[in-house]
Amino acid sequence: MSKGVLIIGAGGVGHVVAHKCAQMAEVMGDIHLASRTKSKCDAIAADVLAREGVSITTHEVDADDVDATVALLREVQPALLLNVALPYQDLPLMEACLQAGCHYLDTANYEPRDVAKFEYSWQWAYQERFQEAGLYALLGSGFDPGVTNVYTAWALKHHFDEIELLDIIDVNGGDHGQAFATNFNPEINIREVTASCRHWENGAFRETAPMSLHRSFTCPKNVGTYEIYRMYHEEMESLVKHIPTIRRAQFWMSFSPSYLSHLRALQDVGMTRIDPILYKGVEIVPLQFLKAVLPNPGDLGKTTRGRTCIGCVIQGKKDGRYKAVYIYNICDHEACFREVGSQAVSYTTGVPAAIGASLILSGAWNGKGVFNMEQNDPDPFMDALNRHGLPWQCMELTREQAENLCVGDTPKPV
Ligand code: NDP
Repeated sequence: MSKGVLIIGAGGVGHVVAHKCAQMAEVMGDIHLASRTKSKCDAIAADVLAREGVSITTHEVDADDVDATVALLREVQPALLLNVALPYQDLPLMEACLQAGCHYLDTANYEPRDVAKFEYSWQWAYQERFQEAGLYALLGSGFDPGVTNVYTAWALKHHFDEIELLDIIDVNGGDHGQAFATNFNPEINIREVTASCRHWENGAFRETAPMSLHRSFTCPKNVGTYEIYRMYHEEMESLVKHIPTIRRAQFWMSFSPSYLSHLRALQDVGMTRIDPILYKGVEIVPLQFLKAVLPNPGDLGKTTRGRTCIGCVIQGKKDGRYKAVYIYNICDHEACFREVGSQAVSYTTGVPAAIGASLILSGAWNGKGVFNMEQNDPDPFMDALNRHGLPWQCMELTREQAENLCVGDTPKPV
């Protein structure tokens, strides 16, 4: 396979992807970085050159414009387009890859701009066209979705005959010192957090009010105890499709009291609305305006302290007996900043994106069509996580621990 990668998106995640691709330059080949604002690509390229000694070629592109991306792909001729722009760009970028004959990878599923609707249907609809073109599209190669899917596939391969219950728990124990900020794109983050909660139970997604169920969760290795809230997250849709024995899948994320009280106030005054309003004769979307005044997540690295802890509690059967495991990674914000100049949320997304790219370019993951992470052999990905900055642990749990989501070093009494 020819080598070379075109990264699209020069935000917080794009910054990490560029650094990690440079660290894997042998397998990546030529590295190109394009985004709407070329100066942001140039700043990243300068940092990569200084830290890694690898040159990256930069370009300006509007990824909503299929013709413009096709022209860039024909000029650069990469083997893979790595999309770390926004979910709105997924479909135009998949279309451009088909036209130019290029493999595709992203970290978040497509969302239409006018409704916060998270589902894979739009991207799965490209299955036949990618198959016919002999091209490979890898969806959701971040941490969640991404690593969480691979953890589940790895558990099924090595620990279970059947997985029945899945709880994905995403804790960010970091403090950035700001009254209110999001750790990745604020518009996408707030759309996700304010959406209705859906979880999978007995063959269907059940809908509940946003943030209506929460509980306390103690992380291992003294990361701390946090309040986690059940919410919808896209990897549940592909995991219950590809692992149909899963009876219940839930996704939990930690939020601080300060984040939640600010979010509630912003919602109450209409600042999280995604429909346009007229202001002095100009249409503006309140949430997009809010994004413009909030801190840039890419700039939070300097001040963020603490650790993230993201993992899966998986329950099922092995040799006819109950079994439960917890697979997780702990990532230190300050260590990420020292290595690549980013906080851990960008890091934990960018590293798996670069690993996914390396597996496609080396041919370890291959095929024709549109693939979710769990449809691939998890082993090379799990190995690469250990080598590229996101080492994981797997611990066996008792039934009581798993049912109560008690995984900390000092579990609460059950
Ligand atoms: P940012 O907002 O920091 O960066 C997005 C980048 O995309 C910016 O450089 C922006 O350009 C660029 N962009 C936006 N629209 C276009 C366009 N039309 N054409 C070209 N470039 C464009 O976001 P993040 O880096 O925080 O997030 C990137 C992606 O990662 C998102 O899709 C997010 O959902 C996903 N993500 C996935 C996670 C996972 O674990 N799976 C976790 C966190 C994030 P400009 O600077 O000019 O605005």
